[in-house]
Amino acid sequence: MNKRAAIYCLVWTLWVAPVAARAGQAAAGSWKAGAARRVITPQQPMWMAGYASRNHPAEGRSTDLFCKALLLEDPRGHRGLVITLDLVGIDATLASRWCEEIHKRWKLTREQIVLCTSHTHSGPVIVANLKPLHFELLSPEQQQRALQYVRHLTDQVLGTVEDAMQSVQPASLSWGSGRATFAVNRRNNPAAEVPARRKAGKLVGPFDHDVPVLAVKDGSGRLKAVLFGYACHATTLAWYYWSGDYPGHAQLTLEQRYPECVALFWAGCGGDQNPLPRRTCALAQRYGTELADAVDEVLLSKKMQPISGNLTTRFVTFPLAFSRVPTRKEIEGEKESKNRYVAARAKMWLARLDQGQQVPSTYPYPIGYWKLGEQVEWFSLGGEVVVDYALRLKDERNGVRTWVAGYSHDVMAYIPSRRVLSEGGYEGGGAMVYYGFFSPWSETVETDIINQAQQLAGSADHLRPIDQR
Ligand SMILES: [Zn+2]
Repeated sequence: MNKRAAIYCLVWTLWVAPVAARAGQAAAGSWKAGAARRVITPQQPMWMAGYASRNHPAEGRSTDLFCKALLLEDPRGHRGLVITLDLVGIDATLASRWCEEIHKRWKLTREQIVLCTSHTHSGPVIVANLKPLHFELLSPEQQQRALQYVRHLTDQVLGTVEDAMQSVQPASLSWGSGRATFAVNRRNNPAAEVPARRKAGKLVGPFDHDVPVLAVKDGSGRLKAVLFGYACHATTLAWYYWSGDYPGHAQLTLEQRYPECVALFWAGCGGDQNPLPRRTCALAQRYGTELADAVDEVLLSKKMQPISGNLTTRFVTFPLAFSRVPTRKEIEGEKESKNRYVAARAKMWLARLDQGQQVPSTYPYPIGYWKLGEQVEWFSLGGEVVVDYALRLKDERNGVRTWVAGYSHDVMAYIPSRRVLSEGGYEGGGAMVYYGFFSPWSETVETDIINQAQQLAGSADHLRPIDQR
């Protein structure tokens, strides 16, 4: 080796190689993330969403309601934004408005955004969601408040995204799966019999008790955000106080235990699942703690697996068919119905028909698909999806590494499986009136959604086998 080569070699060994190694380390784990939250509790007495039986506005607050945002950026710089809301649901128009604004300000496209709602039944009326159940029947003053609230909500959502964008820093991601058992199949277990059946180990399924967990830590290993899901209606409470119900309590509990962390909840396919027994604040807290404990057990276990690789983001809407379309004459015949929701639906549609709209034979159904590194995939489905969808997608794909959110993007109706559709009842078609639809979904609803979901995910690379060491 000549002198120049020797000096080069020394410089490489002492300076370049360690720098390259450090850079290599950073590159290997160079996800970035930012998270934020803002309060979205209504500031004035407003009508509450979720139950037909309420007869006056909210009387006060039990817990605050939140909008949360988690921005993830993979090592290539590809970004994904999760927004979670302590609300009963949102509609497609509102979702589009937010996504267009987010695109304008931060250049994220639709497939890079997942909008999740917790389905709390102790949140405010959201104008176009469940319209014949709520908005159509409100006084003009309450309608004005609902419209004002949506404007305030929009400001808060965009503000939360802004805050999350500003807090982006290098992060490591890991995932795990826990378990919580308070969700009960409400179609197959009469509420009054649940305590005895639970005690005897005789609760009837199907149910999905998985608790998927995504942990986001900063460079020094501190938990900055945790994203988790559970498949169960947030209907422990049916009162006149704002509350995030059990998901709200679970998020608050985790944020108390990890003060620097933003905890974000997404509702799974719990369309036919209830937290039973229910109706007391103590139970909402108990289920929230049970869910937080399940998340915490995963966080504290040594079994969390790192997420490596890149973020894949996809989104599609496709025409999901109704079983039939009514004629104008039929709708006119419902105008004077003694059922106030049937009458409200007729009034709503007759106004639309007068404006030149038609009653559609299909609905643009949204499905999101994200692949987090090589380890986890996450479907986000619109509507109140029953549990069969999560069980089927997990079974056909990657078990607990396939996460399935319902109540995402647009909560337009219940989404029964073929089984639930043929059994009928509230989730099978009875609830369609509250969403402003005239008939159940077509009998191909399950096949259509599963095929679209599989197609959307299909061309993504398969997940890497789990390292079992
Ligand atoms: Zn519901």
